[in-house]
Amino acid sequence: MHPAPQLARRLDSLRSSAIRDLLTVTARADIISLAGGLPDPELVPRARIAAAAVDALGGLSAVQYTETPGWAGLREVLAARNSVQCGRPVGVNEIFTTHGSQQALSLLAQVLIDPGAVVVVENPAYIGALQVFRAVDAQIDALPMDADGLSIDALEELLATGVRPTVVHTVSNFHNPASRSLSTDRRIRLAALAEQFGFWVIEDDPYGEIWFDEPSPRPVAAYSDRVIRLSSASKIIAPALRTGWLQAPEHVCRAVELVRQGADLCGSALTQQIVAELIADDRWLEHHIDGVRAAYRERAEILCAAVDQVFGDVISRTDVTGGMFCWIDFLDGTDTQKLLPLALEAGVAFVPGSAFAVGDGYQNSMRLCFTTSDGPVLEAAVSRLARAHEELALA
Ligand code: PMP
Repeated sequence: MHPAPQLARRLDSLRSSAIRDLLTVTARADIISLAGGLPDPELVPRARIAAAAVDALGGLSAVQYTETPGWAGLREVLAARNSVQCGRPVGVNEIFTTHGSQQALSLLAQVLIDPGAVVVVENPAYIGALQVFRAVDAQIDALPMDADGLSIDALEELLATGVRPTVVHTVSNFHNPASRSLSTDRRIRLAALAEQFGFWVIEDDPYGEIWFDEPSPRPVAAYSDRVIRLSSASKIIAPALRTGWLQAPEHVCRAVELVRQGADLCGSALTQQIVAELIADDRWLEHHIDGVRAAYRERAEILCAAVDQVFGDVISRTDVTGGMFCWIDFLDGTDTQKLLPLALEAGVAFVPGSAFAVGDGYQNSMRLCFTTSDGPVLEAAVSRLARAHEELALA
């Protein structure tokens, strides 16, 4: 028999997400998982979704194919919402709905990036973005972050060497995994650089609404139309609705439409109509998101207090002011890849920092997600981590 044909060369640069792989292990009932970045399903407004589904199914359009850029009723609601968030009018034709913001990233990569084009990402990076950019053979340049998010000084230094990125990708609020936000000053500088040097910014913003004490600053997209902003219903309503949206200049939306026609024709009219009803009901939505914020704030506080109490000076961690993650650096040289098997044995899972590194790095770091466990479970998870840490030190 003739051997099977080879798989396409683009597969050579793709790696499976360490987190998606870990999810199979963490499904075990005896493991407390701080690994997956999953919203709490208990906080999903199931009754409200069910009622909106019944409303939508009262008409025929909910069961039909819909327009490729999304059901017009949803795009109108989103254009109004994005106008408020950006402080300037955003037209319906500047909104394109997708199957989660991950699909928006994937479609945009095909529309904006030729093989070999330079794409700047943050280090540590959102793994889903790396997968997308690798799939289109981008040349990935990673820049450091600090407490104020992506280093714009480092970006300026890169530009000064003559490198001309096509895209700069940033998770502007409550970064996954680094749990940091871009300061307003840096948002303004980034937008100005995009205009000066002619690159696109992809502002990947699924967490901006999950702030704890203070609303997130205006998005980078408020300052330039070189910024394509991605938002999502996943963290504020439910991931299973698979509804995200991008805000971009009209010609970019038209290009995305061409690529999407070949990808999946269109999204689900049913889930888009459900999301439209929920987002249009802004008083209900604000109340609902407030509940999510309060629950996550409490869990973040409990996790951080437990980590500080158990590890003290052995670690440094980010101040968690929103989102779903806490990023921890071990200062005693602990290799978190080596810690992971001992932690799994002790009954707790986390994601080692190296999973998010572009190249090598973050061997002494880890990402903890606090969203799906309540206080006592989080405290138990941290003492299991401490046990694993002690065992590693003795080994
Ligand atoms: N961007 C970032 C930074 C994320 O963390 C995630 C979810 N993990 C996504 C995009 C994709 O989310 P969704 O497709 O559910 O909207």
